Amino acid sequence: MENLFPVEKFRVTRTPFYYYDTALLRETIEAVKNEAAKYDNFVVHYAVKANANPKVLKIISHSGLGADCVSGGEIEASLQAGFPSDGIVFAGVGKADWEINTALDANIFCFNVESVPELEVINELAKAKGKIANVCFRINPEVGAHTHANITTGLAENKFGIAMIDMVPVIERALSLKNIKFTGLHFHIGSQILDMSDFEQLCIRINELQDILEAKGIKVENINVGGGLGIDYDNPEGNPLPDFKSYFKTFANGLRLRPGQKVHFELGRSIVAQMGSLITKVLYVKKGVNKLFCIVDAGMTDLIRPALYHASHKIENITSREMPETYDVVGPICESSDVFAKDIPVNGCKRGDLIAMRSAGAYGEIMASQYNCRKLPVGYVSEDFK
Ligand SMILES: *Cc1c(COP(=O)(O)O)cnc(C)c1O
Repeated sequence: MENLFPVEKFRVTRTPFYYYDTALLRETIEAVKNEAAKYDNFVVHYAVKANANPKVLKIISHSGLGADCVSGGEIEASLQAGFPSDGIVFAGVGKADWEINTALDANIFCFNVESVPELEVINELAKAKGKIANVCFRINPEVGAHTHANITTGLAENKFGIAMIDMVPVIERALSLKNIKFTGLHFHIGSQILDMSDFEQLCIRINELQDILEAKGIKVENINVGGGLGIDYDNPEGNPLPDFKSYFKTFANGLRLRPGQKVHFELGRSIVAQMGSLITKVLYVKKGVNKLFCIVDAGMTDLIRPALYHASHKIENITSREMPETYDVVGPICESSDVFAKDIPVNGCKRGDLIAMRSAGAYGEIMASQYNCRKLPVGYVSEDFK
């Protein structure tokens, strides 16, 4: 632990906070880029919603990846971090007018459009600016993902995307609009996906849809397959790098591409999750009737994934060499769901010990809230402790 974390520096830092290992971030980005570069038509965008810490964004933007945004705020953050505007894609079921205008002003690469009313509004707003908006349509492929119900997005019952049966009429509508340029199809079936057969199913569906469009004489320049590659939450040390190789290979083998087509990827979690840890201090160890509670100063306001998705993060006492005991690790928030883990072994805890919740670089800091009038956790990069 002492070599993984600058523990002595941590001791004099106000907790809870996020710690981002930028060496691992850089290594991960290199791995993504190297694996994607094996295929000359693959383009990778970083899904900003996973972690928009400015220092993290800057490292990713300098690496040459594009950005996948789901709000006007993310577009602004991406531009500020130095992402080139022609590498920005913009998705989301409910884009507000100001967000569309922000994207139009920036001349982003593409809007991923999720409904006809949205398409009409983009056309109107583009017309008012004398611009032509590039659009892809997000199609709901009705492909399930083997992941938590709250993070599967490609089923008919989900709010996302356009139904497959509506695909052709919607594209035809787009082709009739003067300030819209139809440039491709977009998909995103869910998150934390480790079973490559889910992506194989997506490829099969995309091939079917492409055949339909080809028969209609509709040209498709871009296929955006979204994100969703999962990471190993149980063993961050053993598997710090996600399996980008299998991931890209699955699409290279599965997609029947037409000449000149580009494949876009929108990876969030897999790029930033493993480099981050939430560092928190033990406040109290409390004996319950049947349980031992380790009460820490971080709560669901700092890391909501366990409460929201029943996610489990590896929890380590980085300042104790005591024998492990079985604890419920809980936060101070006035909610029964403010529990990080139940009945897990952690090295013997005492007041003042430092705990690391691992693999917290994605959907951690960015989802923090001020519920209970708490302070937002600070995000530090390794360089801040040099
Ligand atoms: C959330 C999201 C992503 C990123 O998902 P990860 O599982 O973090 O890779 C990509 N595309 C869209 C449209 C999203 O909403």
